Amino acid sequence: MNLARNHSRVSGQNSRFSHNRSSYLCGESDFNQVLKTSVCKTCRFQNVNRRAVSVVAEATQDDDVENLVIIGSGPAGYTAAIYASRASLSPLVFEGYQAGGVRGGQLMTTTEVENFPGFPEGITGPDLMDRMRQQAERWGSNLLLEDVESVDLSVRPFVVKGTETTVKANSLIIATGATAKRLNIPSEHVFWSRGISACAICDGASPLFKDQELAVVGGGDTATEEAVYLTKYGKHVHLLVRGPTMRASKAMQERVLANPKITVHLNTAIEDAFADKKGAMAGLHLINRESGEKSDLPVRGLFYGIGHNPNSGFLNGQVELDEAGYVKVKEGGPWTNVEGVFSAGDLHDIEWRQAITAAGSGCQAALAAERYLTANDLVVKQPTQKEEPKKETPKEEPKDKKDMSIEEEFNVYADKHRGQYALRKLYHESDRLLTVLYTSPTCGPCRSLKPILNKVVDEYSGKIHLVEIDIAEDPEIAQAAGVNGTPTVQIFKNKDRIANLPGVKMKNEYRKLIESNLE
Ligand SMILES: Cc1cc2nc3c(=O)[nH]c(=O)nc-3n(C[C@H](O)[C@H](O)[C@H](O)COP(=O)(O)OP(=O)(O)OC[C@H]3O[C@@H](n4cnc5c(N)ncnc54)[C@H](O)[C@@H]3O)c2cc1C
Repeated sequence: MNLARNHSRVSGQNSRFSHNRSSYLCGESDFNQVLKTSVCKTCRFQNVNRRAVSVVAEATQDDDVENLVIIGSGPAGYTAAIYASRASLSPLVFEGYQAGGVRGGQLMTTTEVENFPGFPEGITGPDLMDRMRQQAERWGSNLLLEDVESVDLSVRPFVVKGTETTVKANSLIIATGATAKRLNIPSEHVFWSRGISACAICDGASPLFKDQELAVVGGGDTATEEAVYLTKYGKHVHLLVRGPTMRASKAMQERVLANPKITVHLNTAIEDAFADKKGAMAGLHLINRESGEKSDLPVRGLFYGIGHNPNSGFLNGQVELDEAGYVKVKEGGPWTNVEGVFSAGDLHDIEWRQAITAAGSGCQAALAAERYLTANDLVVKQPTQKEEPKKETPKEEPKDKKDMSIEEEFNVYADKHRGQYALRKLYHESDRLLTVLYTSPTCGPCRSLKPILNKVVDEYSGKIHLVEIDIAEDPEIAQAAGVNGTPTVQIFKNKDRIANLPGVKMKNEYRKLIESNLE
């Protein structure tokens, strides 16, 4: 496990960076180069932050205390991890798993990201997040694929309890984001990112929606702003409001009502979306909540403007939150009301909510955490040596293997396989439990699930098979298996399907099923 590896890496290395190590503090760290300051941050900060010094002086000499724990692996969390690891803080990142979305955050649920600087051709959300992850790992961040269940901020060092690992930490960056609320209409998963979106600013300009009839659901400021924004791209925008009035500010209501490209439908609820013959989203089944009258609205896109839920529940009130549950920060910066606890990204940003602003905020949080740790003489762990990032050389497949056909390459004794040939062979010829993972190329959560499932399968080596089916390559297999969305895991025993698990589940759920069906 990553954590174990890192713990052994730092064991016996408890020499703390102290204030006397002026070479580290006053100019040589990468981090300070990033800061581009000519004065020693510690000296300056200690003067202005005496209170923090006294608060934390008590309990931090322990050698199994982390310098910095980062919670969350969206753009904010990974950016914080990149900066903190470059500052030799060896941050430990709880990437998240289920509690507030999958590893990689909200962008794992979208296709093209066209507005993140540095990618002139665009990049898919999952690819962008994979790159951020690799960069964080390359500089020495320690990544744990776990949710954080609770934190104890009443003690120093802080205690962070994950689903499997509990750690102590001298500082904390919380970057758990916010989850866009969904309507959960029956075919939402079918059209998600293919007609239905939770982000008009992100997806509105997609060719899918250009000059099309579109709908926005919601009656508040977000929905009305989205409706106005979408008039730039769509032919016409229908604003679907559940109640008898809009909740948006008067000014926004007036803008909407004055716009000839927007029609407001009050008292209107969406029952479901429907497709055309080619499977593309073609419209919405609506119901008037006052009269009960049903109707169909032909639209090619539906945008959710019904708000977000900040993922702050696990803080259990120990950090000051606003009424909606967003973390309150000081002066728009990363500082929470608890010394040593910093916030980043959508968890406190109720206004901008973009990947680039979240990344910028992660950078701020890491810089602030490093200043705090240094000022308070709290850096307890350091990498054993300055690691130069490794340059990966692509592995050449052995020539004979490259020339082998799928049939020749197939090995019935192997645990892990890909593609329909392997699935058919194993289904008929192997008496092991058969686990099938259905994925698709643009599916972000699939990327999170693969390493999880691989690890579980490793635990039962020789007893089960795992076959990955890319439903874009083998659509007929997916259809025959009744798979409507990815990722989906199905488990077969003696040719009988004993489990169908759509989405990403906890490791234990897969384990339990496998365990109980092994003979
Ligand atoms: C469909 C969609 C499309 C979008 N498209 C774009 C776009 O094109 N361009 C753009 O700039 N922005 C886009 N956005 C907005 C952008 O995704 C967000 O602003 C950004 O991801 C916020 O980053 P974040 O790091 O703050 O939080 P998130 O991305 O929400 O990440 C939060 C992280 O915290 C983790 N987490 C939550 N709870 C816990 C817990 N208890 N323990 C451990 N981990 C936890 C989650 O697993 C996740 O890794 C889009 C959003 C959506 C929903």
